[in-house]
Amino acid sequence: MNSVDNFLAQLALHLQPDQIRIDEETRLRYGQDWSNSLTPHASVVLFPRKTEEVAFILKTSSEFNLAIIPSGGRTGLSAGAVATKGEVILSLEQLNFIGPIHEGALTLRVGAGAITEAVHDFCKPHKLTWPVDFASKGSSTVGGNIATNAGGVRVIRYGNTRNWVLGLTAVTMDGTIHEFNGELEKNNTGYDFRHLLIGSEGTLAVVTEAELKLSPLPQERLVFFFSLENFKSVVELFTFVRKRVSGLSAFECLDRASLDSVVQHLGKAAPVKNLGKVFVLMEVESHSTEGTDALFAQAEGWLNAIFETGLVLDGVMAQNEREAVALWQYRETVAESILNSHDVHQEDVSVPIAKLSDFFSEIEARYAKAYPEFKVFFFGHIGDGNLHIFIQRPGSHSSAATGEMSKEEFFARTKASDLELFKVLKNYRGSISAEHGIGLLKKHAIHFTRSPAEVALMRAIKKAFDPQDLLNPGKIF
Ligand SMILES: Cc1cc2nc3c(=O)[nH]c(=O)nc-3n(C[C@H](O)[C@H](O)[C@H](O)COP(=O)(O)OP(=O)(O)OC[C@H]3O[C@@H](n4cnc5c(N)ncnc54)[C@H](O)[C@@H]3O)c2cc1C
Repeated sequence: MNSVDNFLAQLALHLQPDQIRIDEETRLRYGQDWSNSLTPHASVVLFPRKTEEVAFILKTSSEFNLAIIPSGGRTGLSAGAVATKGEVILSLEQLNFIGPIHEGALTLRVGAGAITEAVHDFCKPHKLTWPVDFASKGSSTVGGNIATNAGGVRVIRYGNTRNWVLGLTAVTMDGTIHEFNGELEKNNTGYDFRHLLIGSEGTLAVVTEAELKLSPLPQERLVFFFSLENFKSVVELFTFVRKRVSGLSAFECLDRASLDSVVQHLGKAAPVKNLGKVFVLMEVESHSTEGTDALFAQAEGWLNAIFETGLVLDGVMAQNEREAVALWQYRETVAESILNSHDVHQEDVSVPIAKLSDFFSEIEARYAKAYPEFKVFFFGHIGDGNLHIFIQRPGSHSSAATGEMSKEEFFARTKASDLELFKVLKNYRGSISAEHGIGLLKKHAIHFTRSPAEVALMRAIKKAFDPQDLLNPGKIF
């Protein structure tokens, strides 16, 4: 018997047969994430249902010197949960309890495998929410959100996942179960391991449970879709709005190629008639109980002022919640519409907001030059200085028609061209990964954002948590 067989024999003593899967379909499915650019190779997929089972699995795999990859909803876009070397996948999806809520503390306890949207649904009847929100919320898990310190569409108002996690139960590779920060709002007693784990991409410990912080659900919201001439106008509009509009909860953008992709994907017409080069989805929320009419009346003043700037070519405001959901669809399905059936190379960059306008002018021209034969899409969380740039290979996922570039050639070519972009980004003191993490796909470029001294510190921390280098090895650095 090889070491994997011995390991499985040990696990079989403690886990149910349906918690250990070795069939090829499961290994392929759980070995891959939405980045879909590497060939998955996992040896086994495990489904613990309790923290104690995770502890047993990690301790046993340490004894057998086997590498473990923590896995959530696999919606990641940097191959953080991807297995390429026969690793053991530890799926948290069955450790997914939600509740109870503590209405005084405004907290909620969940299992790491709880689906983000299910957490929202659970909180809604209590007029509360966990304000981590983005297009993949129907599949992503709280554990994955924590491990990537996920951002999303309302960071401008609520910040990243980090702001909404009070405590973590997490297991290190030696099988020790830790309670990092418990349920404490205040706890200045040395290093805060909770925050160290948030954003560590499953390389330090496996998160099994979390104490989440909740926020009151807004009473009302107004949603707008604007058409603008160019990115420069978008940045000017943002500056204008930020000074005048209270309750701004989202300021998202998409370019014309992204809108065209969504329109085709949804089979719906564009929401505005006069189509510029860039579009903004803006949301304003209110916690007042005065009702929608009062919010409309308040908005009238600044809305007129917005149109008087001349920055907006066309615009529409949702008249009710149904229309608000429909407008959001144009922003939320951008990534899905581009990834759908195509190989896509993705960038997820950020620059200081004050430098956005200059950055745009510089990279737009560079992309046109670097990728003349590919479709390039610009969209993202512009209010956070965060832009996604997706480059699509012609042809569907699996095929390359005669004369077309193969998948491997495409990814090698785009990876090489990235380095030029990253040099520009460094000049702006930007980040090569604003919210998707480093995973396997951005490892080669971490030095554009982090100094050698910082990477050395990260390695030292990794060694302290995982001396055998068995937890998500090869990710980040
Ligand atoms: C259409 C689409 C839109 C997206 N929009 C956004 C967005 O707006 N903002 C944003 O930030 N991201 C976005 N993402 C990326 C992705 O959804 C997030 O990174 C999400 O937080 C990943 O959660 P997951 O459960 O799918 O994690 P996975 O993909 O399964 O894993 C991600 C990383 O976390 C680790 N991990 C997972 N669970 C645990 C755990 N319990 N303990 C320790 N480590 C763990 C994995 O090893 C891996 O390194 C988007 C993705 C898609 C496909």
